Amino acid sequence: MKKRIGIIGGGQLGLMIAQAAHRLDAFVTALDPSPDAPAFAEADARIVGAFDDLAALERLCEASDVVTYEFENVPGDILRHLEGKYNIKQGIAPLFDSQDRLREKDNARMHGLEPPRYRAVPAIDDVPLDAEACAALSPQSRLLHLGMSVGKIGMPCVLKTRTLGYDGHGQAIIRDMEDMEKAADLLSVPCILEEMVDFDFECSVIMVSDGKDIIHFPVSRNIHRDGILDLCIVPASGLQNGGGENDLCRRITASCESFMKSCSYRGILAIELFVKGDRFYFNEMAPRPHNSGHWTIEGCTTSQYMELCHFLLGLPLKRPELISPAVMKNILGQDLDAAKTVVAESLVGAGPGIEVSASEDVDNAFCGEAGKGVYVHLYGKTQSRPKRKMGHITFVPMTPERYYSGWAARFV
Ligand code: AMP
Repeated sequence: MKKRIGIIGGGQLGLMIAQAAHRLDAFVTALDPSPDAPAFAEADARIVGAFDDLAALERLCEASDVVTYEFENVPGDILRHLEGKYNIKQGIAPLFDSQDRLREKDNARMHGLEPPRYRAVPAIDDVPLDAEACAALSPQSRLLHLGMSVGKIGMPCVLKTRTLGYDGHGQAIIRDMEDMEKAADLLSVPCILEEMVDFDFECSVIMVSDGKDIIHFPVSRNIHRDGILDLCIVPASGLQNGGGENDLCRRITASCESFMKSCSYRGILAIELFVKGDRFYFNEMAPRPHNSGHWTIEGCTTSQYMELCHFLLGLPLKRPELISPAVMKNILGQDLDAAKTVVAESLVGAGPGIEVSASEDVDNAFCGEAGKGVYVHLYGKTQSRPKRKMGHITFVPMTPERYYSGWAARFV
């Protein structure tokens, strides 16, 4: 009988988990509140339900031998209840630890990874105020609290809501008094204030552990625009010497692996870091496949999705090797037409100088090779808007130089 995998969340990560699971002949059920969630197109069974709908989550768990999550904000008490009854193989600890930026950074520090300097705000005598107390603060008190913390951390700094922030949402950069006054509004909920790291670059380490073995994927250099991942470049310049990883890269991966072991996490874990000189700082973690690992599908001998599925199904983990240098471009709403045109050109076999205007005929759910080494993944989302992740393109083999001199100009 087929092994049954349940996925909490039906976004693009769920879609790509389901694609890998099918290659291993598993049966996939996905749960998502949105009836047209991308993963539903690939899953064998679907449950339309909210992430805090206990009955719907229990139905998913009962329909599955093993359950994973691609959505991070399932409420903690619901998770605890499910963990006691069903096989949520990663456990809920890494999810719980990542749901609150304060807890996440305290935990990183406790287990050997250094975050940028940070403080909980609002706080009295270093004790953070809870949500109710924050909501009750007057605008003047908010500004006072923020001013005191900015005084300790220094400018420039970044204010972030402790929960539910993503892709730059719920964040404000503070460079001067005017920014501070604008940012103070965020303090109607608990926040943390971080020093702004003048980093040389950002990178991420994606690991999978079965409790015995731990593997990591080649480290990618990540370029963000407006707080959203734009490009991943592998191998990561700055972390290489000659043909291999430099000492800094080895220190980064060793620290991340040691963190994962020290926390006793199992399954998949992505850690985003800032690199400055020969130092690196923990930014955040995600116990699920990560946007910065999409490129592993074509760029590595095994992908982050496949290794998560190996873990879920109790199969041995496979150590990933880079096949060729790769570049991954995130396709946000504003890039969707350009991505469709890339597909349309490949379908009609257009060469240089031949104009193609067939992009509207390309399905929003296209997934395949559009020209040699150009792997287009469109997630099938029905509604496109600027800054929404609609797909990605992985170019393999590709160097950043070739990407910037040729492909970059095609996107917004
Ligand atoms: P986050 O949601 O915390 O990952 O933030 C999104 C992006 O904002 C990061 O990938 C960085 O590009 C930038 N950012 C966040 N925090 C900091 C920081 N403390 N210093 C410098 N840049 C930051």
